[in-house]
Amino acid sequence: MAGSQKCLATSALNMPFQFTIGRPVEAAGVGLHTAVQSKLRLVPAPAGTGIVFRRTDLDGFCVEAHVRNVARVSYATSLMKQGVLLSTTEHLLAALYSCGVDNVFIEIDNLEVPILDGSAQPFIEMLQRAGLRRLRRRRTYLKVVRPLEVSDGDRRIGIYPHEDFLVSCFVDYAHPKVGRQEIEIRVNRDSFGRELATARTFGFMSDFEGLRAMGLIRGGTLENAIVLSADDILNGPVRFPDEFVRHKALDLIGDLALIGRPLKARVVAHKAGHALHTQLVTRLLADPTLWTETTAETEREDVGVPVLRAVVPAPAAD
Ligand SMILES: [Zn+2]
Repeated sequence: MAGSQKCLATSALNMPFQFTIGRPVEAAGVGLHTAVQSKLRLVPAPAGTGIVFRRTDLDGFCVEAHVRNVARVSYATSLMKQGVLLSTTEHLLAALYSCGVDNVFIEIDNLEVPILDGSAQPFIEMLQRAGLRRLRRRRTYLKVVRPLEVSDGDRRIGIYPHEDFLVSCFVDYAHPKVGRQEIEIRVNRDSFGRELATARTFGFMSDFEGLRAMGLIRGGTLENAIVLSADDILNGPVRFPDEFVRHKALDLIGDLALIGRPLKARVVAHKAGHALHTQLVTRLLADPTLWTETTAETEREDVGVPVLRAVVPAPAAD
């Protein structure tokens, strides 16, 4: 991992200064839900910009990657501002957030982020090509000081005080190839790249017709999603035996990016999804007694913080 990825060699998420990318990078592909073709270009942005989408097909109209712009959350997270839509933002945002990219313009010429291979790995590769550039302004973390929990039936999600950024996910699907899977990970560039980035989105054949009827997954293929039949995986092999929960953790991180600042907290998701993730973020930001803002210079653990302490269930066969 060293050498060719020199610009990304430090764990930027734990550095006290803001980062942008080193140079513009591009990718193109179809959207999972709309099947529209789009071109994506990441462009360096100055300190204090945040992560901002720019619709180049609409005179560069800006939509900030912030929970206040969340429009619709069912099978993907969509942003909308003044009627301008941006769909399926979560995989790209997960890559940017985990790699510690505070400021970047995401230029896109259509309404949905390309799904590429269904994971965040192509976006990680874009960031490796772009490199990271440190800016002069200090990074401000959102540090959770009181817990918050949100639930909907047996689905729930909670956020708790922690000195670092940890994500814990649990899924339970009545399917012989999935079942119950759980993962807890300390999120940084290294752990994300190694444990979560390549985990692909997935879908069940039994949902296929219903989703199509709702105008969803029109760009879905066996190349950009794991597809599950009644009792098997149609397009195996999987990249991890527990690729499903790893992808859920990836989605969660992408939705937490909508906080707009790096996070110091532990987030525990139990059978949650985009709707609960974004509800949690909305309620967290609405109640300033739940968190404080802190710069890294006051945080001793930012000096010599361990690079990785991921707790991952051992793969069944590896
Ligand atoms: Zn996803």
